[in-house]
Amino acid sequence: MPEARILDGKAAAAALRLQIAAEAARLKARHGIVPGIAMVLVGDDPASQVYVRSKTRAAGEAGFHVRDIVLAADAPEADVLAQVAALNADPQVHGFLVQLPLPPQVDPERVIDAIDPAKDADGFHVVNAGRLAMGRDGVVPATPLGCMHLIRRARAELAGLEAVVIGRSNTVGKPMAQLLLREHCTVTIAHSRTRGLADIARRADVLVAAVGRPEIVRGDWIKPGATVIDVGINRLPPETPGEKGRLVGDVAFAEAVAVAGAITPVPGGVGPMTIACLLQNTLLLARRSAGAAA
Ligand code: NAP
Repeated sequence: MPEARILDGKAAAAALRLQIAAEAARLKARHGIVPGIAMVLVGDDPASQVYVRSKTRAAGEAGFHVRDIVLAADAPEADVLAQVAALNADPQVHGFLVQLPLPPQVDPERVIDAIDPAKDADGFHVVNAGRLAMGRDGVVPATPLGCMHLIRRARAELAGLEAVVIGRSNTVGKPMAQLLLREHCTVTIAHSRTRGLADIARRADVLVAAVGRPEIVRGDWIKPGATVIDVGINRLPPETPGEKGRLVGDVAFAEAVAVAGAITPVPGGVGPMTIACLLQNTLLLARRSAGAAA
């Protein structure tokens, strides 16, 4: 059996980031605008710190103006909302995000609702979710946007294909399904209450797993030749004490690679694309603020 084509998210993201850097330089030359991004981190969750650091580095490399704001883990919700209000009003910042998850005293919904939808780099605001659902221009969450880039590398034509998205979160599963619908796929959204998940997955020409369960999707869940996008990032328990456990996706890669037509690896698939697409969103917001939307 031939092995699937590996959809290299690292390489695709590097190419996209170069393109974004070139476009940012053009925006500066033509309109005197440097795209500005800000990230608000509340607390000291190590995974969140790593994510914010990667985003900061990538934005700096693309020539963006970057602002990192760190609040204490016990910061009251009012302080987070005050930061959001300040960033909404800051003309140097075209897009910003508040890193999730937030500590328990801060309601993420209230924080996201407070973000100006025109500066919502993550695309999580209800106005942007609504625009996506209505097929109108807004900001699309970076992870599903990155998945679409990778899917298009594997499939020139998506119209009429069966797409199955496992996972229905507001940040990944739902917007992913909307994007596939926009491309005229026939879309099924599966979740923890879905019956006969393996049979449903097996129908998919395009299968997206955004579950957060290590290797839940087995090789025999996959239609031969399918495009498989693995969003999951799961750390397995360490094999030897003191070591970090291995990172795996939601798809049993070694089994799936023998059946799929194309597949993303974990790590090095969707993850790097998410960061590149966050920059793409911020560039778009900077352009819109200049009245120079693409
Ligand atoms: P989430 O909010 O926890 O949502 C998980 C979804 O999976 C839910 O809709 C849940 O169903 C469903 N689910 C859980 N167990 C299931 C099962 N046994 N069978 C079928 N469906 C099941 O997670 P998320 O934020 O969407 O993230 C999903 C995964 O992607 C995580 O591993 C996360 O770390 C990763 N992620 C990666 C990136 C990246 O850049 N690569 C970005 C974001 C997230 P219910 O709705 O019924 O509970």
